[in-house]
Amino acid sequence: MMHSHRQTPRHPGPRTRAEATDGRETSTLADVERFLSDLAATGAPMVRENLGRSAGGRALPLVVVGRPVPSGGDEAHRQGRLVAYVQANIHGGEVEGKEAVLALLRDLVQSDPRRLLERMVLVVVPVFNGDGNEALGDVRRTRPHQDGPALAGERPNGQGLDLNRDAVKAEAPETRAVLERVMARWDPDLIVDLHTTNGTRHRFQHTYAPPTHPNTHPAVLEWSRDHLLGTVRRRLLRERGWNCFDYGNAEWRDGRRVWATFGEEGRYVTNYAGLRGSAAVLSEAVSFLPFGFRIETTRAFLETVLEEAARDADRLRAARVAAAEDRPRELGVRFAMHTVGEQVVPLEDPARAGSDPSKAPTHWVDVRMPVFDRWRTVRSARVPRQWWIPREHAAVARLLLLHGVAVERAEPGPPRRVEKFRIAEQARGGVFQGHRLIRLEGRFEEAREAPPAGGFLVPSDQPALRLAFHLLEPEGLDGAGAWNLLGDSLDPGTWFPVFKVF
Ligand SMILES: [Zn+2]
Repeated sequence: MMHSHRQTPRHPGPRTRAEATDGRETSTLADVERFLSDLAATGAPMVRENLGRSAGGRALPLVVVGRPVPSGGDEAHRQGRLVAYVQANIHGGEVEGKEAVLALLRDLVQSDPRRLLERMVLVVVPVFNGDGNEALGDVRRTRPHQDGPALAGERPNGQGLDLNRDAVKAEAPETRAVLERVMARWDPDLIVDLHTTNGTRHRFQHTYAPPTHPNTHPAVLEWSRDHLLGTVRRRLLRERGWNCFDYGNAEWRDGRRVWATFGEEGRYVTNYAGLRGSAAVLSEAVSFLPFGFRIETTRAFLETVLEEAARDADRLRAARVAAAEDRPRELGVRFAMHTVGEQVVPLEDPARAGSDPSKAPTHWVDVRMPVFDRWRTVRSARVPRQWWIPREHAAVARLLLLHGVAVERAEPGPPRRVEKFRIAEQARGGVFQGHRLIRLEGRFEEAREAPPAGGFLVPSDQPALRLAFHLLEPEGLDGAGAWNLLGDSLDPGTWFPVFKVF
């Protein structure tokens, strides 16, 4: 390079609580506030705000860092810069993400040889689940598979919700705040959600996943999965000697070992991001590796993800434009886990397994197995020109608006040909996140109906059509019907209340 952008810090900068305690403790919300205010005092190019309040009433810090800091996503995109949203601590006990992202921000504002902060704006929520973070308890109880710190928080928020199952129904104030203050305002190109695994015993140093919902636009999915994560994985092996792999668990299927990813549903933050047309990365530090090392892997992984996104910004932007402009004729409503081949997975040797689940294995066996790292569509439904929502379901129209879906008021008009879904069968699951999820079977029938008086029209000719489809299709297992938001009376023989116009 012709000149160096390395700057001499005016101040050495604050230390995270993990750094200050030599890896024994993790930051509370007060520690995070103090760190950010000390960092701002060094003259860092950052704006501090609050995301909103947690269910338990705690203020959740949000920080925007960039040279310079733009007013929002529109300005950032006009400047030709990417917006990356980094969220840590969605599960309160999974603590290394906040330590890693705070340290990375500090180091980037002091020395940024790759000019990342000029090319990219970082919107960061270091503690998304403030209630869970503050519910500190003995890690052997809160996270029995985790090697430190001694005290760690709890998984749910203050109302008992798992925030990484809430992205579609958006019942938690934290989720609603992120939709309003981050998604609507910043329209992130890339969303990174930082987690810790729940303990499957393998030899990898770090694991990850792209969006897994098959309705993610193929260009966004391929960029996230094949380009970005493929490159990051190769770099971390070359530069650090770390073996990174798709997040998953070793399971038994039809009598044989398989490696299986997690659910495809949009309720997970990174899958939701994909349905919005953003690239996304789930980061899963390995729980039985020591806390200090998990901070190191998460930080290196995150930094490498951001660098590679900035390096390939043009293709990422092109993928996002393709996703926003695409008007598919049909999309998936039912899915199956899918493998594209077998790989060797180093699992703990069961004959020499350790007795403490919070400590790393010491002996491994290489097992060749199918790697189910993705999902595929097994049933589709047609995308209509409009969905019609009756006025009694105004709450669903409001939820769509919160998600950034364009919704119009229905005007009175003559009857038109519509497709209505006649429910033939209703199955309900057990209680999950305060709901009993509904699965509907049935078929579409043609009818003539007038537009819903006082109701709403949702056009499919809009960038958010994949989200609209996700929320409104009767056969979906993660939409408004499934989450009981269209009421409890979706009984066999009745019509699903949302009609489709072609
Ligand atoms: Zn998690």
